[in-house]
Amino acid sequence: MLKCSECQRDLPEKEALVNKNEEGEQRIICPECFQKLTGVDYKTFAFRKENAKQTLWAVLFCLAATVYAFMEKGVEWGIGGIVLTVLVYLFSSKAK
Ligand SMILES: [Zn+2]
Repeated sequence: MLKCSECQRDLPEKEALVNKNEEGEQRIICPECFQKLTGVDYKTFAFRKENAKQTLWAVLFCLAATVYAFMEKGVEWGIGGIVLTVLVYLFSSKAK
């Protein structure tokens, strides 16, 4: 069992969240305190984080495809790939 350093409540390990305070110290808090401190509830936060991860993968994938297209098909395809990558990035960050 862990203890929330904010409200001193006992909380199961899987619910424990690590939060950094203004001094940069890491501490264990519960989801309720996370919401109180950050103004976003943890599910929204986790969702955004997951979304950002997916965007990153999509962009990386496009970049890899761009490099491949550049080497296999030439400069025009490479430029097309870069444009596509930018579009994917813009679209993904907008979808949030
Ligand atoms: Zn708490």
